[in-house]
Amino acid sequence: MSRDYDVIIIGSGPAGFSCAMQSSKFDKKALVIESHKDYLGGTWINTGTVPSKALREAAKTILEFNEQFGDQENRKPYERFQMADLLKYKQEILEKENRKVKNDFIKNRVDVARGYGQLVDEHTVEVKTHFGSTETYTGDYILVCTGSSPTAPTEFDIDNDRILDYKSILEITHIPKRLAIIGGGVNAIEYATTFAALGTRVTVLSDRDDYLTFLDHEIKNELQKSFRKKGINIKTGLKIRDVDFNPLRNYTEVKFTAKSDKDRLQVLETEHVLYLGGRKPNIDNLDLDKVGVETDSKDLVKVDSTFKTNVDSVYAAGDVIGFPRLASASFTQGRLAACNMFGIPALEVPDRIPYGIYAIPEISNIGITEKQAEDMGLDVTVGRAYFENIAKADMTNHDEGMLKLVFSSESLKLLGVHIVGDEAANLIHLGQAVMSFDGDIRYFIQHVMNYPTMSEAYRIAAFNGVNRVYQAGVKYKNILEDKEEE
Ligand SMILES: Cc1cc2nc3c(=O)[nH]c(=O)nc-3n(C[C@H](O)[C@H](O)[C@H](O)COP(=O)(O)OP(=O)(O)OC[C@H]3O[C@@H](n4cnc5c(N)ncnc54)[C@H](O)[C@@H]3O)c2cc1C
Repeated sequence: MSRDYDVIIIGSGPAGFSCAMQSSKFDKKALVIESHKDYLGGTWINTGTVPSKALREAAKTILEFNEQFGDQENRKPYERFQMADLLKYKQEILEKENRKVKNDFIKNRVDVARGYGQLVDEHTVEVKTHFGSTETYTGDYILVCTGSSPTAPTEFDIDNDRILDYKSILEITHIPKRLAIIGGGVNAIEYATTFAALGTRVTVLSDRDDYLTFLDHEIKNELQKSFRKKGINIKTGLKIRDVDFNPLRNYTEVKFTAKSDKDRLQVLETEHVLYLGGRKPNIDNLDLDKVGVETDSKDLVKVDSTFKTNVDSVYAAGDVIGFPRLASASFTQGRLAACNMFGIPALEVPDRIPYGIYAIPEISNIGITEKQAEDMGLDVTVGRAYFENIAKADMTNHDEGMLKLVFSSESLKLLGVHIVGDEAANLIHLGQAVMSFDGDIRYFIQHVMNYPTMSEAYRIAAFNGVNRVYQAGVKYKNILEDKEEE
């Protein structure tokens, strides 16, 4: 039976975008349904990755300018820079990225329908348009990639003026002097350092007992040192009781108790509050149950390793299936879903993927930490390079940070890379490449690398690690000589 499309994709975020691109390269006819009236690109381009990182880059430039050239009058950035300029910069980037997605769809003959998609049966999707009409499309396959949305706080309301959320922080009209961020995840840490770079006094209030617990302990120590220097205060183990504006004091008050002392109410006075709580998958009104698509207790769509749901013609990818809830992973998932639908062999997503945290300084890691290796009973050695020992870091005034290699003491195989410092999210890919080819740390010693570069950190860390193995009693010469002959 001939259907309108080979694949109908509900959602134009990274998962939907890459599925559409890959399908069109397979000469398949794709339709993307997007509920946003004007924009494509979802959380990726409009409210998450791109705008938060555009603001972060602008704040980082201001910080670097201030640190490098100083300010004779010692003024804070909010006395010199206008938030309007930063917002304009963010908006321009957002528009540019949107145009790119739109043009890629046009170039690759991907159709777009605007409105809310809803499953009718295993091959049919209904679109409720913004004009009140309904359009119906059929497809051999359907990809559900509707992303996720922030959950609302239960103790107070977001007024989008003094109390902001993921969306309204992107429209804030001035650089606040004080900001309290409620949330303890990656986004909270990223926004904390973005505003601290602009001179804002930032306090992070988290109900978790700790934050970024997946980081290597030394990377976390470096980060904490940086937070202290920047005056970022992170309070954990709290229960938020209320947030409200106090007109008498002209402050917004955050009332909270420590989990360990529930009776002592504490009050933090601040100018603005940014609430960055959890997120939930966008499955309301999709009518997944009508078709029998299974979800779990957290409403995440269940998929197998090919991104297929329990219904043969329905696939799902991106935030709607849960972890790792990243644009980076969503791109790959959407593409692989297309490969699997159309029976075209594709490489599997490796278990190890890199994580990038766009704090200032940046953090990135791949593979196991030193502590995890110990817990696994592995005999590992670490090699460290401090950015203050790298010429390029001195030249660019980015001497805060470190790169740490975790490798097998016996085989020298690289098992983990952990970086904090400028361009960490970029630098990680060299370690990722070596790891994905089962390489060992001699790669960084034996290959000539451009100089001066931040990649020199790999060479320094590898030498540092090799020296440590030698000290531990393994024959140093063998490391470089014998092993080459194997
Ligand atoms: C503040 C913030 C910063 C982030 N920073 C990073 C980062 O630095 N790096 C990174 O890798 N990830 C980052 N992320 C995560 C990343 O944005 C998401 O993981 C990614 O966008 C998920 O992609 P997706 O395709 O699943 O969904 P989305 O990008 O959310 O797109 C889903 C689309 O589906 C549409 N939609 C929903 N329901 C329907 C419907 N019924 N019909 C039609 N359309 C519908 C939505 O309008 C939306 O356009 C960040 C997220 C946030 C919130």
